[in-house]
Formats: sequence, C-alpha cells, structure tokens
Amino acid sequence: MDELSGISEALKEALREKTDSTNTTFDLWFGELNITSLTEDTAVLSTPTKLRKNILSTRFKKVISECLAEVIGFDVKIEIFSLDEKEKEEEKKEEEPIEEKRTEQSPEDKEKEKAIIQVLKDKAPKKSILDEYTFDNFVEGESNKFAKTVCYAAARYPGEQNPLFIHGHSGLGKTHLLYAIMHYMKTNHKGLKIVYRTCESFMNELIDSIGNRTTSAFKEKYRSADVLLIDDIQFISGKESTQEEFFHTFSALYESDKQIIMTSDRPPREINPLTERLRTRFEGSVIVEVLPPSFELRTAIIKKKADQLGLPMDNSLVNYMAERLNNNIRQIEGVIKKVYALYSLYETDVDRDTIEQVISIVDPGNIPNDILVDRILSAVSKKHGVSVDDIKSKKKTDSIANARHMCIYIIKRLTDLPLKEIGNIFKRDHSTIHFSVNKVETYIKTKNNYEKEINELIKEIKGI
Ligand code: ADP
Ligand code: MG
Repeated sequence: MDELSGISEALKEALREKTDSTNTTFDLWFGELNITSLTEDTAVLSTPTKLRKNILSTRFKKVISECLAEVIGFDVKIEIFSLDEKEKEEEKKEEEPIEEKRTEQSPEDKEKEKAIIQVLKDKAPKKSILDEYTFDNFVEGESNKFAKTVCYAAARYPGEQNPLFIHGHSGLGKTHLLYAIMHYMKTNHKGLKIVYRTCESFMNELIDSIGNRTTSAFKEKYRSADVLLIDDIQFISGKESTQEEFFHTFSALYESDKQIIMTSDRPPREINPLTERLRTRFEGSVIVEVLPPSFELRTAIIKKKADQLGLPMDNSLVNYMAERLNNNIRQIEGVIKKVYALYSLYETDVDRDTIEQVISIVDPGNIPNDILVDRILSAVSKKHGVSVDDIKSKKKTDSIANARHMCIYIIKRLTDLPLKEIGNIFKRDHSTIHFSVNKVETYIKTKNNYEKEINELIKEIKGI
C-alpha cells in the first residue's frame, strides 16, 4: 500500500465514524473515494461518477475536510473530480490532438509531494494533539471564562444548567466546549446516555428516517438520551419539519430533567425564521456567550499550541502572530499547524516571513499595508518591465509614469492608507496621487483589457 492509499484508508475510517453511516450509505458515497494527490494546501480526491462528485462536493465536503484534517494533522483545501468526466475529457483531447495536453506533474512537484507525505506520516500525529477538545486544553481569558465555568458546571452536575445555550462567532471555541463537556461526562458519569449531533446531521437523519419509515426509531433514540448536545443549532432556522421534531424532542427531554446543550453562532433572538415556541424555549435557557479573544488570550493560546507541537517561537514572534491574527481562534490554530508543517517539512526557520507566508494562504485578505505596498511595487515593476526605483523616482517617460499610476491606483484600492501617506511612498503630494487615480480610472473606461490586467495583478498580489 503506498502512502496515499494509506491516508485514503484512514480518511475513510474517520468518515465512517463521523458520519455514523450504515454500510450501504457508506459504500455508496465513500467506498470508492480516493486521494490522488496531496500537497501542503490541497488534497485532490477522485470518485467514479459525476453524480457522486456532486453529492460529495455539496453534502459531504465539510465532513471530508474535517476528517482529512484529523488524519493529516492540518487543514487543506479539498478538490473532488469524477473519473467518468475525466475520461470524457481525455477522449476529447485525443480527438483534438492539436490542443495542448494538460501538463503532467513535474518531477520536482512529485518529489515535494513525496516529502510532504513522508513528513505527515512520520511526524504529524494521526489526530493532532491540538484537537484534544478537553477543559484542560481550553485556554481561559476574560472573553470565555464565564462560558467555560458554566459548561464545566453543566458537565459536573448534569441537569443543573438546563437547557444550556452557548453562543458566539465562529471559531471561538463553542464546539471545543461541547466536546469538553461530553469528554468529561463520559469519563465521570459513565452510565449516562450521551447523544451528540450537529444540527445538520440531526436534520439529515430525520429526513432519512422519514424516507425509510423509521421515524419511531429516530424519536426513540433522541428521547431516550440523558444528555443531548446539538452543535450549530442556528441551522435549524427555516427548516420547519426539523423544528417541529426538535421541539418535541426538546420538550420530552426537558420535562424529564434531561440535560440539553446547544451551541449557535448567534443568540436565540437572531435565529430567523424560528417558530415562536422554540424561540421561547431557547430564550429561556441558561445563555452564555463566548467573545472574541483579547490580545493576551491570543498570546496565551499561541504559546500553548506552539509548546504542544514543539514549535520554537520566541516571545516576539508570539506577539507578532497575536497582533496579526485578530479574532478567530480556529484561524490562529490553522496558521500554527501550517507553520509547523513547513518547519518540520523543510526545516524552515520560524520567523516573521514564514508566518506572513502562511497567513497569506489562510487569509488572503489579511496582509499588512507595508507588505502589500512592496508586493504591488514589485508586481507592477515586473509586469511593465521597469524597476521599482524608477517607479518611485521623478522620471516622467511614458512607461515609467504609467507603471507609477498603476501602482498608486492599486495601493489606493487595496490598502486603507490615506492619500498623503501614499504620496510619501513616491515623494509626491496628495494631489499627484489623486491625479494618478483619476488617470487609471479613465484608462479602465477607455482602454481595452486594461481593467482585466489590473484585476489579474491584484489577484497575484493577494496570492489568490
Ligand atoms: P466554534 O465551534 O466556536 O466555531 P471551535 O470550538 O471549533 O469553534 O474552535 C476552533 C478551534 O480553536 C478549535 O480547534 C479549538 O480547539 C480552538 N480553540 C478555541 N478556543 C480555544 C481556547 N480557549 N483554548 C484552546 N483552543 C481553543
Ligand atoms: Mg463549531
């Protein structure tokens, strides 16, 4: 078995567990799913038919991506193609021999891929230690302390904080807390029947049970739970029959003092549309909010995660990363995992450049002004064949002036720098900057392909 098929198998195992599918469903969707290539940021997967590709890309993409991240230890983008479409494409190419065939993977890329896979195999833990969603691993700060305390109480004394509703923006630790509760209960209250579902899987299961005429088994399963945990309950909005069923499950459990815990990316009043009776239930819950992390909490989280991975980062780098990544802990974690992958793969030094490089992949919009300006100057300079020094100089030949106008326009568009500061870069006053911007706007309206050229440059600059 080669490395990729090993990873494919591990992925399928994870999918089987996470989707909780029957054998038939599993074989149908995931049985012939295979990873055909894997690099540090993208995994390409194949499946036999177009239909399966469509279903996998819509209904299952998220879970595939989560499971793959569990297996390899960090997030990658997922691309799925179908073998039947590819075959057709190939036949077509053979019929039209003039057309250039798609280039094969270069030997260099192949080497790189091999190296990456080797590292993943040797070094990346099968399930990253960062993914241990326990109370111990939950770093506490002002923004999440109260939520954590209440969750911990709910875990210790099921039924006392009932129902419990945890809300906060995406990536702030709600699922982590939910798993932590589950983890704690499984260890400390062994007899309890705990049912965890995302709102989406609850809904899909309900739909399947209606299709298979097994709704009574479905009802029984949920109503016999001692603890019901539903993640991302906001997805229930607008789903009438799911709301109806959930209301009855909720009431049955609540009336027999069973613990219900929900998470949501918004407070109950903002879940719309939602039937009044469910809203009343949600609003009557113990409601706790997780807020965006302060600088101190971000620093503490980065330190802890870097320590866990054995990633060397001195304080100034930790602070730098905490400044650059503002309010999403998932994103912070994503950056650390990627930096770790580069560090262990290429033995790259962990420095600001590495961190910047990774941030630009994870969050292309998030590039600081000074780095953007450098990239704009060098991209335009390359494209127009004039040097950066010339662009910044007072020279007025057409080609130089045009490159300069373009730089100024793109800087204005991509950064929030005031005209005066843009002027400083070119040692000119703000009226000249204004003039350049107007000039480019006229070119966009009058010159063929000019706008396209600018948009392509912007994409290149942003690295997307
Ligand atoms: P949400 O469900 O709110 O979108 P998650 O619980 O999935 O967010 O959190 C995203 C990632 O950030 C997870 O890997 C989680 O472990 C991590 N995380 C969030 N908050 C904390 C925290 N306080 N301490 C440690 N890790 C955290
Ligand atoms: Mg979540």
